[in-house]
Amino acid sequence: MSELLICGANFKEDERARLANAYPSVFVGGPSEMADLDEPTRAAIKAIAYKGHAPFGGAEMDHFPNLGVIANYGVGYDAIDVEAASARGVKVTNTPNVLNDDVADLAIGMLIAQFRTFYRGETHVRSGAWADQGEIPLNRKVTGTSVGIVGLGRIGREIADRCAAFKMDIHYTSRSEKETPGWTYHADPVEMARAVDVLIVALVGGKETENHVSKAVIDALGPRGVIVNISRGTTVDEAALLDALEQGRIAGAALDVFLNEPRIDPRFAKLDNVVLQPHQGSGSVETRRAMAELQLENIANFLSGKALVTPVN
Ligand code: NAP
Repeated sequence: MSELLICGANFKEDERARLANAYPSVFVGGPSEMADLDEPTRAAIKAIAYKGHAPFGGAEMDHFPNLGVIANYGVGYDAIDVEAASARGVKVTNTPNVLNDDVADLAIGMLIAQFRTFYRGETHVRSGAWADQGEIPLNRKVTGTSVGIVGLGRIGREIADRCAAFKMDIHYTSRSEKETPGWTYHADPVEMARAVDVLIVALVGGKETENHVSKAVIDALGPRGVIVNISRGTTVDEAALLDALEQGRIAGAALDVFLNEPRIDPRFAKLDNVVLQPHQGSGSVETRRAMAELQLENIANFLSGKALVTPVN
């Protein structure tokens, strides 16, 4: 009988194979398919390897009377109802730190792409317009700009370190002030938005941070403002962001995350002041491998009675 449930249509073939080779396992595409497993199969499951953003709540957990751990692939576990897991004595693990570099690299890459209009430049070259029309319009200097990091956690700090290398004036907001090399702390994100040109959002997702980058924050950023979001679509008031972008009330945005991924609001595609990426923050071969290994290590430790490597609850 299988002791591991592999859950998530977006597990890559090799990731699934590694898990399936390690433990007798059964696969479902998502939480909605869990109920289709027969009762003896569900009763044998002790661990779930989870990958995805589909909600995984208490009702789904209740299908598995002997479940002990949900090992999430990814640092963000907002899809999993951790409170419901804790109430059932189920442990949750995630994959922090191994992806910090990739996500921070992408944030800085998207910021540069937005300021220096990579998309326009690339289109200009590929279409042949360069030969017919000459230079593209001048754009905007990256080095030395002022940046506000929204959420100076593990990824936020890596982003700030990269911003420091670009000689930026660094501000941040978090629930608590941190020890930093002289970066300016703001308790209030609206106040920070008034002080900077760029906001880079690196918050956790979930209910508590929903629309943390509110209409008031977006308005305070002003017409030179650019918002970079690598966290979750939920952390920014997306309707207010779209309105501000369409009306030119802020200069632009660079987004790796959206509401309703992958069927995002079609208004985004009509804008020429945005950089749009398909939630690929941690998506390098090297980092995804490290995440898969950490997920498997958590499962292995649980099943052999050792301490979890990266517990959430
Ligand atoms: P982290 O170390 O836990 O940092 C999260 C930050 O959010 C902290 O600064 C924390 O503030 C802040 N925060 C948490 N709850 C808050 C609240 N209620 N109000 C205000 N601020 C709050 O997390 P991380 O490892 O850096 O990861 C951050 C997020 O990045 C993940 O949760 C995930 O959603 C996202 N992510 C995206 C990708 C991608 O592919 N684009 C990849 C990986 C991760 P304090 O410092 O005060 O605790």
